[in-house]
This record gives sequence, structure tokens and C-alpha cells, in this order.
Amino acid sequence: MKKLYLSVLLTAAAFGSITPAHADDHNGDYAMAIHGGAGTITRANLTAEQEQAYKDKLTEALEAGRKVLKEGGDSTTAVIAAIQVMEASPLFNSGKGAVYTWNGEHELDASLMEGLNQNAGAVAGVKTVKSPIELARKVMEESVHVMLSGEGAEQFSRQQGLEQLDNSYFNTEHRYQQLQKAKETINKSEQAEQQAWEYLDLDYKYGTVGAVAVDKNGLLSAGTSTGGMTAKRYGRIGDSPIIGAGTWADNESCAVSATGHGEYFIRFHVAADICSRVKHQGLSVSEAGDEVIHGVLEQAGGTGGVIIIDADGNIAMPFNTEGMYRGYFKGQGKAEIAIYNEDE
Ligand code: ASP
Repeated sequence: MKKLYLSVLLTAAAFGSITPAHADDHNGDYAMAIHGGAGTITRANLTAEQEQAYKDKLTEALEAGRKVLKEGGDSTTAVIAAIQVMEASPLFNSGKGAVYTWNGEHELDASLMEGLNQNAGAVAGVKTVKSPIELARKVMEESVHVMLSGEGAEQFSRQQGLEQLDNSYFNTEHRYQQLQKAKETINKSEQAEQQAWEYLDLDYKYGTVGAVAVDKNGLLSAGTSTGGMTAKRYGRIGDSPIIGAGTWADNESCAVSATGHGEYFIRFHVAADICSRVKHQGLSVSEAGDEVIHGVLEQAGGTGGVIIIDADGNIAMPFNTEGMYRGYFKGQGKAEIAIYNEDE
């Protein structure tokens, strides 16, 4: 149904009765930014081999997105292509490398949003879906809903014919060790569980993945995919599948994907707040990103970062942690990758 609405809209746009914001004056340039999580990522924490492995995988993800955009594909398809490279890699906390829940399972969240008409799809707490971002697209295009969760989302995934696997597919040794360490810290803590969780936040790297892109037609899209936070329980859901918190796209302002301590991103509606500042206060993406990440979020005690792009291909990647796996390209320009705070 939504697909039909979109095609009517696009047809109307082609005949001039509805013009997607920025589409008419778009210069045909495409661009993309991605992240692979923020957190305690320092040179001391990564070996040269690990650093190279991250750089290679981020480059591969960017090139997968670029291939789509170069061939005239839409920004949503490009965002998914880039995210799927990272979902399939054990390096990131999404798909294959997803963190463990308190009960020793994996519960995955993802969301996707298009800037043309703010169409969106999201899934939360899925355990058997190989590519949660692909399911988010199905929710957006093939259902009348925006967000599906748990068993219902998996049933919908089966109906759509998406690949599903046993939850153990997402097992990795390093994430298992992280869970043991997290449990030890929480169990040993004399503080209330809530405070122990806050302490953990300082010590554990986030590893959510995300992508934002503008295509040749000037259309924006954003997507985010995650395993959430290590040792999460009680069906905890973070910001990543929440439209406006972890993901946002609006062609009149910008597209954003976030990574960090999800509870803060939800409370401060981080992704949408950044784009509102661009839209209503005329700020650039870097001014708006800095205000929210280094102002609002930091003052509240929240840690993490975002990638932001506008329809002119301006990109900002602010974060308030020690590092954030990140990268971007503009048109046929070089894929730029950065990890640490001091990297530009
Ligand atoms: N934002 C994610 C969450 O809170 C975690 C992350 O960015 O790695 O679920």
C-alpha cells in the first residue's frame, strides 16, 4: 500500500505537481556516510591488525553503497547495501557480531527512513532474521505499519521470504566474553543495578552500524542496525529502531543515523532534533550536530555520536566518545575512513 502511495507520489513529482524538496535543483551528485559504532575506541585498545580490519570493512561498506548510487540507484537501496556488509561482519554489533543479552541470546533492532515523504520501517527484538535492515525495508514497503517487534516481526519476515537462521548464527566468542565481563561487573557491584549499568556504559564499546545517503535525484535516506547493549534484559529496546531517536530523514533538512547509549538518544530525540535545527533555525549539519551531541546530549550525560548528511551532500560526523568508526565519500571522491577522536 505504501509502495503504491510512493509510486503515485513519484509519478506526480515527475509531472511537476509535487516536487520533492531539493529534487529540482539537485546537481546530480551523490554522497554517503556510514558509522560502525562509537565508544571507548583508542589507539591503545586496537592492534594494528584490528584497525586495518575495521578500515577495510568500512571501505567495503562504502563501496557497496557507492556502486548503487553510481548506477543511479536510490539512497535507500544504497543505505541497505552498505549496512548489509557490516551486518554480515563479526566486527560490528549488528547482525553476525551482535552482542549477547543477559540470557545469552541475541535480539536485533533496525530502522530505515526516507526523506521524500518520511516513509519509515522498523523492527525490534528479532532473533532469527539474518538482515534486520532488510526486514525494516519490508515493513516500510509491504506493511501498513511502521514498527514490528518480536515473534510477530519474525512471522512477517517468514511471509516476506527473508532469510532466517537459528539465533546461534549470531554467536561470537569475543561478544560472549564481553557478556561474562558485564555480568561480573553488574553482579559484583554494590550499587543499584541501574548505576552499574551506567558504569558499564563507560567501559563498553558500542558497535551499532548505520548509513545515510543522498542519491542522484537528491533524495535522502537513513538506516541503523544493532544488537543493542551487552547484557540487556527485560526486552530492553534502545534508540536504533526508534524513528526520531536513532534514525531520521527529511529531505527539507537532513538524514541521521546514531550510535551510543540509546536511552539518552530516545529521551532527547537526538536524530530528529538535529534535523529540526537544520530545518527551523537554518543551521548547517555540522552546527546542528555539534549543538546536540556536544550540547544537549553531553549535558545530560549521554555518550555516542551521529552521522548526518543533507541534500547538497554536506556531511558531519560528531561524537563525544573517544572514537567512532566512520567514513564517507562524495561522488567519485576517495572513501575517507576515520576511527579516533584526533582523526579528521
Ligand atoms: N544505540 C544502541 C542501543 O542503545 C547501541 C549502540 O549504538 O551500539 O541499543
